[in-house]
Amino acid sequence: MGNKETLNLKIDLLLNGVALAGKFDLGSRAFLNSVSDGVHFVIFEDVYITTSIKANSPYILCRDETTNAIFLKGKEITYPLKVEIIPEGKYFGIKTSDGTSMENIGTFQTDRLRISAYKGCGFVMNDEGCKFCEASHVKIQRKNRLEHISELVKYTECYEERIKHYLVSGGTPPDDGWEHFVDVCRTIRENTQKPMYAMISPPPELNIIKQIVDTGVQDIAINIELFNSNLSAKIIKGKNRVGINNYFKALEYAVTLLGNGGSVKSLLVVGIEDYNDTLRGVEELAKRGIMPILSVFKPIKGTLLENYPMPKKEDLIPIWETAQSICERFSLTLGPLCKCCQNNTLTLPINNKYFKYE
Ligand code: SF4
Repeated sequence: MGNKETLNLKIDLLLNGVALAGKFDLGSRAFLNSVSDGVHFVIFEDVYITTSIKANSPYILCRDETTNAIFLKGKEITYPLKVEIIPEGKYFGIKTSDGTSMENIGTFQTDRLRISAYKGCGFVMNDEGCKFCEASHVKIQRKNRLEHISELVKYTECYEERIKHYLVSGGTPPDDGWEHFVDVCRTIRENTQKPMYAMISPPPELNIIKQIVDTGVQDIAINIELFNSNLSAKIIKGKNRVGINNYFKALEYAVTLLGNGGSVKSLLVVGIEDYNDTLRGVEELAKRGIMPILSVFKPIKGTLLENYPMPKKEDLIPIWETAQSICERFSLTLGPLCKCCQNNTLTLPINNKYFKYE
C-alpha cells in the first residue's frame, strides 16, 4: 500500500472503529468510549492505531484458530491484514501497599504510561469544559497521590518492559494545583530515567514551565485544539477564556527551554472547524518552531458534540498533505515523532524524523 492508501485505512479505522470476532487479551479500558482509550493495535509494523470497539464497524479483528494470528478484514482491505494487538499493561489487577488498584493511577497506551496529576479537569469544574471531551461531564477533581504514583512507576520499571516513556497529563489543574503537577513529574523522575512528556495548559506563571522542565521533562504539549475564535468561544470555553495569545506565549516560552526541533507541540482537532482555520493554526505553530499534531475529531457518545458530524475521510488526506508541507517549510514534520504515539492522530511515519523509543 502507498502512503495515501495506508492513511486512508488508518482514518477509516479511527472513524469507524473495529468489531471483534473471537477472544482477545484486552483490558477493560478497551471498551471505553473516549479519544485515547479503545483497542490498541499495529498495522504494517509501525502504523499504530487506537480505536473504539463497535459491533457494527465494517472492519473486523479476527483470530485465525489454527495459527493464532490476528487479522483485520474489511471493506477497504482486499486481503486480510495481519495485525498485532497491544494488550493491557501488566500492572492491571495489581494493588499498591494501601490496596489501591494500579490501573486507577496510570494508563498504559501502546508504549507509554500516562499518569494524570489530577483526575478531572479544572475547566470542567468551572463549567468551561471542552464539548468534545469525555471528561467534560465528570465534575470531580482530585489529586493522584504521589506515593501511589511512586509505587506504580517502581512496579512498571521492574515488570513492564513495554513502557518506554511516561506522559504526565490529566485535566487542567486547579489554579493552586501546579505545585502538585511539578511534584508528580519529580516523583516519576525519581523512579525512572526514561523520557518524560508533559501535556499541560498554560500555567498562571511561565516559570512553572521551567520548573516542569527542570524535573527532567523533555517534551511539552500545550494543546490549542481549535484556531477559530468564534468556535473556541462556544466549544472550548475554558481554553478560550485563557486566550490563544496566552497559549502561544506559553508555547514560545517552552521553545526557549526545549528548542524548536519538535520537543514543544500543540494539538489541533481536525473536523470541527473549517479546515482552513486548522491549517492557519498549523502555520502559526510551525513558524514559531512548535510541532503541530492533528487529531481527527470523533463524536464521543455522552459528550455535547455526540451528534456533531464526523469529518469526511476524503477531506482528511489533503489536510494531512498540506499540513505536512507547511511543517516541512519550517524544518518540522507533523507530530508526534514517536510512532507509537501516533495512534489517534492524523500522521504517518513517512520520514526518518519519526522513531520508536527503544
Ligand atoms: S482541557 Fe482537556 S481534560 Fe479539560 S475538558 Fe478540555 S480536553 Fe477535556
